Amino acid sequence: MKDCIFCKVVRGEIPSARVYEDENIIAFLDIAPVHKGHTLVIAKEHYETIMELPDRLLQELAVAVKRVSRAVMRATNAGGISLSLANHGIAGQTVPHAHFHVMPRFEGDGLRHWPQGKYAEGEMKEYSEKIKASME
Ligand code: AMP
Ligand code: ZN
Repeated sequence: MKDCIFCKVVRGEIPSARVYEDENIIAFLDIAPVHKGHTLVIAKEHYETIMELPDRLLQELAVAVKRVSRAVMRATNAGGISLSLANHGIAGQTVPHAHFHVMPRFEGDGLRHWPQGKYAEGEMKEYSEKIKASME
């Protein structure tokens, strides 16, 4: 896509610190890392969210995320890896070209997950049934 930042990275019109590339996938460092080594993994072809990505390409992306995660963990001596992928602006997506964040994690790094709530009596059944009925 012409004006997409990550499509420009793919085409080499914007510089990037690439850590991996194959026919359909690239991985490069996030310019504003949560920790140094924070890497983004994308399909070269433009799809806005994970929900539009064709299954075959998503499979390739997932395998690349696995390989990059192992490399980031090894290279940064991280104790763990967090993966994240925001879909649509309301979920925090700022670049509308689907991307996995691969983030090294360290003991006591203070990063926290989102707050957790709870279900009222019967709500888990209600939500699970609604989601099940929405599966395509
Ligand atoms: P998200 O908020 O999940 O859409 O993540 C977008 C990420 O892209 C942010 O973490 C930015 O720091 C990162 N980012 C934006 N522009 C670039 C760029 N040119 N090269 C590398 N990372 C970028
Ligand atoms: Zn794009």
